[in-house]
Amino acid sequence: MSIKQNLEKILLTIPQNVSLIAVSKTKPVSSILEAYHAGHRIFGENKAQELADKYELLPKDINWHFIGHLQTNKVKYIIPFVHLIHSVDSTKLLVFINKEAVKQNRCIDCLLQFYIATEESKFGFDYKEATDLLVSAEYKAMKNIRIVGVMGMATYTENEKLIEKEFSQLITYFNQLKQSFFADKPYFKEISMGMSGDYKIAIEKGSTMVRIGSSIFGERSSVYKADI
Ligand SMILES: *Cc1c(COP(=O)(O)O)cnc(C)c1O
Repeated sequence: MSIKQNLEKILLTIPQNVSLIAVSKTKPVSSILEAYHAGHRIFGENKAQELADKYELLPKDINWHFIGHLQTNKVKYIIPFVHLIHSVDSTKLLVFINKEAVKQNRCIDCLLQFYIATEESKFGFDYKEATDLLVSAEYKAMKNIRIVGVMGMATYTENEKLIEKEFSQLITYFNQLKQSFFADKPYFKEISMGMSGDYKIAIEKGSTMVRIGSSIFGERSSVYKADI
């Protein structure tokens, strides 16, 4: 099936109130344009340099989401245009994002990434680290970032019960943070969870944003090669 057909098929399974982030990492500009011409405007990338390169080459009405681990020295490449950073996984990174946003006179929407999987070496906060951040004077002084919700990745497994449990954990974190820190902040409303293999479970559990790559664009090659 074509990218357009994949996209249309997936959109039929996603409720209106859930956003579809088409994850185009490693995929050429021509594939992104195919989705763009089918009407899609929200894309996700996980490497800062690749994202900045694609931004230059593609129409400017695309909403670009950053979804991967972001190194602090790469933050500056995406701050001029990024729509939402899903993957804030440390206080240090948030400090850098704010600093660069000040320089470039923008306010950057961010999600706090939580560690919910049973796998080793996944990035993200645990609940205590997140609350430590949110009560800190350092956080309160950051004027050029806005935390609009949470993000998480479930374990890569066939075990649906485990995936459900992990997504439920993220929902619990979201609700607790909402109550404790964002009760009067209507913009704190996003729960980014769900990928090609588990997005239906994520939506059942309350996801507001699903990040889908291979089901739209096909299997990935390992690296991005510029096609123009
Ligand atoms: C690659 C990636 C996705 C999309 O994965 P698929 O299984 O191809 O849908 C979603 N979220 C993050 C953080 C990713 O890195």
